[in-house]
Amino acid sequence: MSIEQALVERSSNQCELCSATDNLSVYEVPPVTETHSDKCIYTCQTCKDQVESNIDITPTHWHCLNDSMWSQVPAVQVVAYRMLSRLAADNGWAQDALDMIYLEEDTLAWAKVALAEDDDIKHVDSNGVILQAGDTVTLIKDLDVKGSSLTAKRGTAVRNIGLTSNPEHIEGRVDGQRIVILTKFVKK
Ligand SMILES: [Zn+2]
Repeated sequence: MSIEQALVERSSNQCELCSATDNLSVYEVPPVTETHSDKCIYTCQTCKDQVESNIDITPTHWHCLNDSMWSQVPAVQVVAYRMLSRLAADNGWAQDALDMIYLEEDTLAWAKVALAEDDDIKHVDSNGVILQAGDTVTLIKDLDVKGSSLTAKRGTAVRNIGLTSNPEHIEGRVDGQRIVILTKFVKK
C-alpha cells in the first residue's frame, strides 16, 4: 500500500487538520528521516500552504486545531502543536489550546526539534542580539499574558527559553506557566 493510500484510509479521505475534503495531498512532517505514513499527514492545500510558510497565517482557519489537536496520530499532534505555537502570541484561544494539548514525550521532542533546527530563522532580542534555545532573557516591559489574569513584570528573568518557528516569538515559563513572548520585549 502506498503512503497516500495509507493516509486516505487513516484520514477517511479528509484533511487531518481541518476536515476539508478537497485538494488533499501528503505532507511530510519535518524533519523527514524516513518515508513512512507515520511521518506524514494528509492535508488540504489551505492548511499545507500555511504550515509550510511563515507568513499569511489566517488565524480563524486554525480554530480547526481545537478538534484536530486531539488526534491519536502523532504526526498530526506535531503539526497542531507547531501551528498553535505560531498562533499563541496573538491569539488567546491558541495559547489556551497549547496549555491543554497533550503529547507523549517522544512526540513533544519531535514537535520541538524541527523548530530549533530551522536555520533560516533568527531570533533576536530588543537589542538585536541573537537568542538561542536555553538562554535566559529579561522582560523589558510589563506583559499581560493572553488568556489569563497574569501580568509578567518588567525585569522578570525567563530561563531556558525555547525558540519557535516564528522569529518574533520565543517560549518561556513565567510563574510556572508556559507562555509565548515577543522577542522585541526581551533582552539577553
Ligand atoms: Zn485543511
